[in-house]
Amino acid sequence: MNWEVVMGVEVHAELSTKSKIFCGCTTSFGGQPNTHVCPVCAGMPGVLPRLNKAVVEYAIKLGLTLDCEITRLCRFDRKNYFYPDLPKAYQVSQLYLPICRNGNIEITVGGEKKKIGIREIHMEEDAGKLTHDPQSGTHMDFNRCGVPLLEIVTEPDFRSGEEVLAYLEQLRETLLYLDICDCKMQEGSLRADVNISVRRPGEELGIRTEMKNLNSFKAIGRAIEYETGRQIKTLENGGHITQETRRWDDEKGESYSMRSKENAQDYRYFPEPDLLPIKIDDRWIEGIRSDLPELAHQKRERYMRDYALSEYETSVLTGHKSISDLFEDLSNQTGEPTESAHLITGVIMQLMNSTATLPEDLNIDSKKLSYLVSLVVAGKINRGAYKDAIEAVFTDDTDPEKYIADNGLMMVSDDRIVSETVDIVLADNADAVSDYHSGKDRAFGFLIGQVMKRMGGSGNPNIAREILRDRLG
Ligand code: ADP
Ligand code: MG
Ligand code: ZN
Repeated sequence: MNWEVVMGVEVHAELSTKSKIFCGCTTSFGGQPNTHVCPVCAGMPGVLPRLNKAVVEYAIKLGLTLDCEITRLCRFDRKNYFYPDLPKAYQVSQLYLPICRNGNIEITVGGEKKKIGIREIHMEEDAGKLTHDPQSGTHMDFNRCGVPLLEIVTEPDFRSGEEVLAYLEQLRETLLYLDICDCKMQEGSLRADVNISVRRPGEELGIRTEMKNLNSFKAIGRAIEYETGRQIKTLENGGHITQETRRWDDEKGESYSMRSKENAQDYRYFPEPDLLPIKIDDRWIEGIRSDLPELAHQKRERYMRDYALSEYETSVLTGHKSISDLFEDLSNQTGEPTESAHLITGVIMQLMNSTATLPEDLNIDSKKLSYLVSLVVAGKINRGAYKDAIEAVFTDDTDPEKYIADNGLMMVSDDRIVSETVDIVLADNADAVSDYHSGKDRAFGFLIGQVMKRMGGSGNPNIAREILRDRLG
């Protein structure tokens, strides 16, 4: 008999606001341990939190994009528990009145579109970080305490691992385009917990386990497969599933029980007395709505319409915000959208692949690229020189003007110089000339190659071709 897997996902997204949610400390990643802290985020007694308005605005941005209802009067609640990474012994979060509710997001799997329900989005603060060292013990770093988070909770709408991954991709793209989270899974700024249960089709929801410590898309796919198999095997052997939190060990490729699942009442939630409720009115919401940036799917439509780019090019260009930003900078600076698109989907993508550069780490000066695009379009450098110069800018941030000058790549369109070179090549290659005259067309390509080689990449191939054809009669 077949089984159906049912999943719901909770994502924690660290917001890219400059300062923390309740104090002025920086949110920047890294730094010496305990240097991004103050009495508020370190949980000293007698201090009061002050809400960072940008956090509320980021939450509303995401909520509007995901079609949520925005809670007009929302509030923070305390979630109480003791753990050494939480100096206050409570996390300020939202239980009763989360800022966004009842939204949805569309995913595409195998060409089929599906809507996933967004149950809620709430604001909360991150905890610190513990590192365990067998020799010196456990070290506490509170730099991350108070970094703002949005927790995005879906309905149990997923029926396969592919759907979960498509959702995470879609959500990531949205967060990046809204520019509210850098989504670096390896730095923990995007973290996903997957709740999994299995059932016979038509039955009620089964008992779920929650999978934690999923640090990459690949780990998520593997963990889902493992956990689904484990649950099915347990049930088929007459056992039962315990509601629990399980930790995924990606190296071993298995998960193990961390703790039995806690319920809301275990946390003694109560309204946060140190912060006033937040009143959100229509004007505020509409102001944010009118400021929402263009999202990936809107860009795709616009690129195809305005620039007549192919579907493939369009999808590469909008695959990551850093790529579409580069494309738009380039085409605005050069007025050459087609050439700019070809450059990015061609040479730049090849360079990124061969150097394993992630889009979020792409750091290339669009002004330098623009200069080169303008030269090649104006016929002032040839394609070979263009490619080499792009590579130099990509790898060493070279000054392209100097690079072109130093390597003598500015195309020689001066007929006299090209024709002198052609004469030399003809004199040196009498065999090829007679091959050409006896009808071997390939000899022409060889001769052109010799002319270009002699000109060190600065020859104008069109002019060279013309003169050579002329000379050969
Ligand atoms: P908690 O906040 O205690 O983890 P919630 O009831 O808010 O629990 O659900 C958390 C996530 O688990 C949600 O994404 C929800 O869709 C999902 N979920 C709830 N019940 C199940 C179930 N039986 N099987 C799979 N996922 C579930
Ligand atoms: Mg949970
Ligand atoms: Zn602080």
